[in-house]
Amino acid sequence: MNSFDVAIIGGGAAGLSAALVLARADRNVVVIDDGTPRNAPAAHMHGFLSRDGMPPSELLAKGRDEVTGYGGHLLHGTVADVVPDGSNGFWVLLASSSRIRARRLLVTTGLTDELPDVPGLAERWARDVLHCPYCHGREVLDRQLGVIGGTPGAVRYAQIVRQWTHDLVYFTPPGLLTAAERAGLVARAIGIVEGTIARLVIDDDRLRGVCMADGPTVPRDALFVPPCFVPRSGFLTDLGCATNDDGWVTVDTTGRTSVPGVWAAGNVVDPRAQVITAAGAGSAAAIAINADLVDDDVHQAITAYHLGYTA
Ligand SMILES: Cc1cc2nc3c(=O)[nH]c(=O)nc-3n(C[C@H](O)[C@H](O)[C@H](O)COP(=O)(O)OP(=O)(O)OC[C@H]3O[C@@H](n4cnc5c(N)ncnc54)[C@H](O)[C@@H]3O)c2cc1C
Repeated sequence: MNSFDVAIIGGGAAGLSAALVLARADRNVVVIDDGTPRNAPAAHMHGFLSRDGMPPSELLAKGRDEVTGYGGHLLHGTVADVVPDGSNGFWVLLASSSRIRARRLLVTTGLTDELPDVPGLAERWARDVLHCPYCHGREVLDRQLGVIGGTPGAVRYAQIVRQWTHDLVYFTPPGLLTAAERAGLVARAIGIVEGTIARLVIDDDRLRGVCMADGPTVPRDALFVPPCFVPRSGFLTDLGCATNDDGWVTVDTTGRTSVPGVWAAGNVVDPRAQVITAAGAGSAAAIAINADLVDDDVHQAITAYHLGYTA
């Protein structure tokens, strides 16, 4: 079978949550996923009510079981392209050369975190180099923490990380801090180190400090880094979905894009989405997609009725 009511591209929290709702509504739904969820490098997931501390892979495995338990289909593979089928639906083309036809499309492909180019930093990602204090701040409470600054919003981010420790250092290239930013950091006892970071110091598989190009090493137990978020939204923009000034695809409260029949949910359209909110957005999109399909079903039933067919 390669024809579905709904094709969902991306089987993370958003996609699987949507699939569960649609499968329970007796919709013929397929989730296509290539196994690269954003939080895969993290050992544990936090802040999801009733699932706090669970490994991210375990949440997804349970979700997949629930989806298939209601008759939803899962397909491991990479989607290469999506094109309109000429009759209000879509062809989903896989890298393996197979293709799937669907009446509606939900894109939940997430985002990519682009990290600053500091030697040793990428290797420590999700271990002692962290991005979200709400996800992992509690695990380094009151330790010696640092924030890699220098990007827009990084000072505000450091002020938020300060909530989790009294020993925080803000690393920034020289000449970037405004007087007001500096005053705010000093007032809350956040250390300021201005200079170029040469590398992270790792010993015995643990972060020990930040080595500056001009000599000293600043001891730190963990670093917070505000990454640059890059949405994996190529399918959506190729289909013509409207974007905002920053290039992110815009959706309404149900995840509906500007292109009829196309929805999107989770990090692909919302960089702020946590696992629980991505799952919620997927659920909301599923309910809206089912309603849209019902409208379509009514339209088709009326046409059939007038032609003398009965449902
Ligand atoms: C290191 C780290 C730790 C985190 N820890 C937490 C935490 O503790 N708590 C929390 O709430 N949030 C945490 N987050 C945020 C969390 O990862 C996101 O909120 C969540 O993953 C968003 O879910 P999503 O379904 O939108 O995207 P994702 O989970 O990223 O899922 C997207 C899916 O789409 C698939 N995909 C993408 N492109 C294609 C394609 N072309 N073809 C097929 N499949 C495709 C991928 O394989 C992936 O499975 C963390 C993030 C990071 C980076």
